[in-house]
Formats: sequence, structure tokens, C-alpha cells
Amino acid sequence: MISAVDVIRTKRDGGALSDDQVRWFIDQYTRGHVADEQAAALLMAIVWRGMEPGELATWTDAMIRSGERLDLSAVGRPTVDKHSTGGVGDKISLPLVPLVAACGAAVPQLSGRGLGHTGGTLDKLESIAGLRAALSNDEVVEQLRTVGCVICAAGPALAPADRKLYAMRDVTGTVESIPLIASSIMSKKIAEGTSALVLDVKYGSGAFMREAGMARELAETMVGIGERNGVRTTAFLTSMESPLGRSAGNALEVAETLDVLDGGGPAGIVSLTLTLAAEMVALAGVDGDPATALRSGAARAKWDEMVRAQGGDPSAPLPEAEHMRVIESPASGFVTRLDAMDVGIAAWRLGAGREQKHDAVSATAGVTWTAGVGDAVEAGQPLLVLHADDAARLDAAEPLARAAFTIGAEPVDVAPLVLDVIRS
Ligand code: URA
Repeated sequence: MISAVDVIRTKRDGGALSDDQVRWFIDQYTRGHVADEQAAALLMAIVWRGMEPGELATWTDAMIRSGERLDLSAVGRPTVDKHSTGGVGDKISLPLVPLVAACGAAVPQLSGRGLGHTGGTLDKLESIAGLRAALSNDEVVEQLRTVGCVICAAGPALAPADRKLYAMRDVTGTVESIPLIASSIMSKKIAEGTSALVLDVKYGSGAFMREAGMARELAETMVGIGERNGVRTTAFLTSMESPLGRSAGNALEVAETLDVLDGGGPAGIVSLTLTLAAEMVALAGVDGDPATALRSGAARAKWDEMVRAQGGDPSAPLPEAEHMRVIESPASGFVTRLDAMDVGIAAWRLGAGREQKHDAVSATAGVTWTAGVGDAVEAGQPLLVLHADDAARLDAAEPLARAAFTIGAEPVDVAPLVLDVIRS
């Protein structure tokens, strides 16, 4: 006979939970038969004591089995998805998903609406008028079969244990645990039914993990979970010291996505998109070439198709903020630092992100900037533009936006975006 108190005591004292204990706890908590305070105690014990690989595998499997695993066998092409641990200006999924679909794989990107400095991928996509992010499982499969890609909300039946556990972690200071983060992310991705997965694990000022070492441990743990569950998984370790591209904000990032899909866009975004796409294409085993699909306009055509399939009009103008403020460079020289966290908080103060789970985000708010680390700038040139629906928010964001940039007299070396790749 298993009891919640015994499970908590085992972990509190540094023991490994048995398979039966893990499966029992996840099942009973998801059904509401284990009290929230007991779940909170176990989560805190896991934060301190960690989990052994076998224990974590069972924990993740139990989370997957708490709900349904989508059957994508009717899609008719290899499936591959991507997940990023999130960062400022990280809109890579938006150009990446149609690009990989244009190469012949099917990309089922089902995501949640996390808290964040800027909105999640769904918030960005929903700045397109009319676009529907809530699709039924049948609609997801049909769109994957006909279009080859979908970006939509993960339904409540996917890993419901994570929904409850994550909400509990959020209010009990138990988010920061590598096994808990890894199982949370991977249970949702595995339940979504993809056969292969590319992870973009970020480290640095604007990332969930500040230290590259921690990000590496998370990446290795997630790759291990993927392999054990038959999902071919590769993780990239990428820097989030500086924000990605030249924009942070929902519609602003869609506009930048369109620049990329139309053959332009910031070099960093283009190169990371192509790097991740090449890995996804390889894992899926399809023979399309991402650089060619981008250059030929095939990826842009696929984007239009995806947006239309979800009720949006790809040619409709994107919404723009009512208020803008230009911030000029205070000096001539070179950008030696552009801090992701400062830009992220500025964008959040402008209204681009949410504080509470049910807060609305502004489609138009955010920050755009004209230079990145290593670029030369002239005193007085426009460096940043703040965008907001409410003029008072401009004042709140301005000091942080100014603090985000350091201009020095000498150029600096630009660190590579990709630090390492972890394959099983
Ligand atoms: N994102 C998730 O989905 N889960 C975590 O635990 C952390 C980030």
C-alpha cells in the first residue's frame, strides 16, 4: 500500500522512488486524490534531492500517460518538432516551422502560453488578425496531412499531470530543478506525437538558465529522455546574453519573421533558423534543403498556407502601436553589450508579456533596435524604438532600454551563437 507521506519521506531522505511510487503519485495527484500540500512537499524534496535517471524516466512516462498521446500516423510524412527554452526576441519557431515543412517533413508545433518577458510563440502568431490557435486533434492531424505544419495550442488532454504540477511549482518556488524542467518539457513534446525533436536550450542573461553548465545539464537530460521514449532528439546550446534579431514583441516579431521568409532579416536569426532546420530535416530523414527552400520562396508560401489554414490572412497588415519613442545612441563607437534581460523587461513593461497566466498581452507593444553587439554606431543615430498602446508605458520602459546598450570606443569580438550540439 503506497501512501503520499511515505513517498515524500523517501525523497526527503535522499532515496530513489520506486516505479510504483512514481506512477501512483502522478496518477493520484492528477486525479485530485493527493493533496496540493503533499505535491508541494514532494516537489521541494525533488528540488533538493534530484532524481536518478531511471526514476526520471518513469516520472516522465507517468506524466505522458496522465493524458493522451497524439497519433500522427495518418499524417503520411515524417514528423519533427522544435522546442526552445525561451529567450528575448526568440521568434525562431515562426520561420522555422514552415521552412522545415517546405523541406518535406511535418511539423506539429503544439505549445503553451508561458509567462515571459515577451509573449510565447502563440501570442506572436495571434497578432495576425483572425488566426486560430485552438485546434482540435482532428484539425491538427488534417492540417499536418494537407499543409505539413501547424502552430497551435496544446489541448488540455496532453500531459494533464504537467499542467497541475507546473502550476504548483510556479507558486512554491520549485520551478528550478533540472529533472522537473526536463520532464515537464519532454512529457508535453512526447505526448504531442512527434517522432523527432530539436531542442534549443538557451543560457545567459535573458534565459531561464543563466549558466551554460546548467543549460548543458538540462540539454543532456532532455536528450536522454527523448531517446528512452523513442523520440530522436538533438539539443543545441545557444547564447541568450543578447536578444535575438532586432525585435522583441508580438506583431513586431511576426514582421521580422516575414522579413526572414522573404529572404532578408537579421543574419543571426537567418543562420540559427537554417542551423536548426538542417538538424530537423536530418532527424526526419527528408531530403529537402532549408537554404534552397528559404531562397526559393517555398518557405514563405508554406507560411501563407499555414496562416490561411488557421483562419488568418497572410497579406493583412500587422497591427502597429499607437505610441512610439525613438532612443538615440548617446555616443559614437561600437556596441559592446546588448543585454537580453534589460530588453526583455523593457518589452514587458511596454505590454508585450504577461505577469499572471491569464493576463492579456498587447499585440503591438515591444522594442526594436537597429544595432547588435559588434556594430558601429554614431552619436545621435536611432538605436532603439519603444512601441506601446499606452504612452505612460514608454516612460516605464525607457530607463531599462537605455541601460541595455553599452557603447565602447573599441570593437569587440562577437561570440558565436551556438556553443555546442548534444546528440545521443
Ligand atoms: N517550461 C516548461 O514547460 N516546463 C518547465 O518546467 C519550465 C519551462
